[in-house]
Amino acid sequence: MGLLSNCRGQHPLFHHRRQFEVVAADPLPATDAEIDDRSERDALGDPHFSRGVAHVFVVGRLADVDVAGSEIRGVHWRFRDDRSRRWVILSKIAGALTLAHELGHFFGLPHSTYDESLMNKAPRVAWLTGELSFAEPEFARMRRHRDRMLREGMLVDRAGPKGQAKKPG
Ligand SMILES: [Zn+2]
Repeated sequence: MGLLSNCRGQHPLFHHRRQFEVVAADPLPATDAEIDDRSERDALGDPHFSRGVAHVFVVGRLADVDVAGSEIRGVHWRFRDDRSRRWVILSKIAGALTLAHELGHFFGLPHSTYDESLMNKAPRVAWLTGELSFAEPEFARMRRHRDRMLREGMLVDRAGPKGQAKKPG
């Protein structure tokens, strides 16, 4: 289980202003190696969930719950009994941008059609050049979502008051 908070790291979401800090990384039990259905997605995060960090679970296989027999690279999942409880599940087949994409969802983004955005799932040349990030309106939306999560305690500013003083206007 990887726990991420909004401090130091490389995620393009915060590369110019705010970063992530890995606060803990713990092994998952072998029973969590394959996540086959919605109930298992719920059960994966439920015992580990806490407010104040973004939880990322890395598993061996993550089934596509909409297409029998298929697997997916990652998902931003809302616990069905309490949709304010959310976490990211990554499969070992996740690509380099999968975590960034799922964190985009975590920070309030839907899929988009911006050519430069990694929230745009359409196949296009930008995928090959590896220069995907987020579009400016998406950055703005994520910042608003981040600030709301900070106010609500879903995330904690680990940089403290100093970090808050740097908060963009
Ligand atoms: Zn997506």
